[in-house]
Amino acid sequence: MHKLLNRFALALLGLGMCFAPAHLAEAKTTFITIGTGGITGVYYPTGGAIAKIVNDRFDEFGIKATAEATGASIFNINAVKGGNLDFGIAQADSQYLAYNGKGEWEGKPIKELRSVFSLAPEMITFVCAEDSGIKTINDVKGKVINIGNPGSGNRQNAIDIFNALGINYEKDFKAESLKAADAPRMLQDGRIDGFFYTVGHPNGNIKEATAGMRKARIVAIPEIKALFEIAPYYSMDIIDMTQYPEATNASEGKISTVGMKATLVTSANVDEETVYNLTKAVFENLDELRTLHPALANLTKEGMLEGLSAPLHPGAERYYKEAGLIK
Ligand code: GLU
Repeated sequence: MHKLLNRFALALLGLGMCFAPAHLAEAKTTFITIGTGGITGVYYPTGGAIAKIVNDRFDEFGIKATAEATGASIFNINAVKGGNLDFGIAQADSQYLAYNGKGEWEGKPIKELRSVFSLAPEMITFVCAEDSGIKTINDVKGKVINIGNPGSGNRQNAIDIFNALGINYEKDFKAESLKAADAPRMLQDGRIDGFFYTVGHPNGNIKEATAGMRKARIVAIPEIKALFEIAPYYSMDIIDMTQYPEATNASEGKISTVGMKATLVTSANVDEETVYNLTKAVFENLDELRTLHPALANLTKEGMLEGLSAPLHPGAERYYKEAGLIK
């Protein structure tokens, strides 16, 4: 019996050695989900890129990650809070509002929200059909404009802009609540005059909208003083129009708009080791991450610690200290 048992144990050990490295023979696999956005955005491929980096190093980190398409920032924060997602990508402004109990979360702060790192910059992108006559943000009166689906960060951005301009989005124009993925087709079909999408660039959705039969432009958002008073977490940015050569105003070269960063968030309830491992995998393989989507090409380790307003998750903090990125 004893001998048999020994043989059995040896056989198991042999199997373990064949199929898994010794240090993982007893370790458990951690499954994680990363909430992203619509499939035509930058969040979806970004979440996929993070999952790939982690999954390709399963032997080292023991994590199996999946990126899920979702309604984006606000949806992701609420799902992370509810424990339905372990990680989520969210705009820096949504992170700030959620943690501080403002906007969507007025009086209901998400105190368990934790930041991990930031990602590519995003810009409020206002695409309008040329034949709609909209050339400035003030030309929306009486038009049909998609401000975005509930659950998206861009919906809040559009509302903030119109509030700051004193334009009533419930009365002065017809506000639609379509998903970003549907907006280019609706624009091309003549069912909307324009749409808002807060997104990193270059982006396929904006390419699709500006390269169709119905000509379209990207309308600038000027520096609106009242906006920065209500929402100091925004900053001015530009959209490089060489990325959208078929937009009717591509020759303008650069379009000014309002921007912020995309960030990765999690919950205080996600364990330290998992967040540490994911952070380490991403930071130690940043060269690869930069190649996985053009919007990620300019990421830097230092830049990835900016734009975070919820406290750092202890697992991320441990890695940053170890790597000498923070004290
Ligand atoms: N920033 C968008 C939002 O949260 C999503 C952008 C994307 O999916 O790339 O509403």
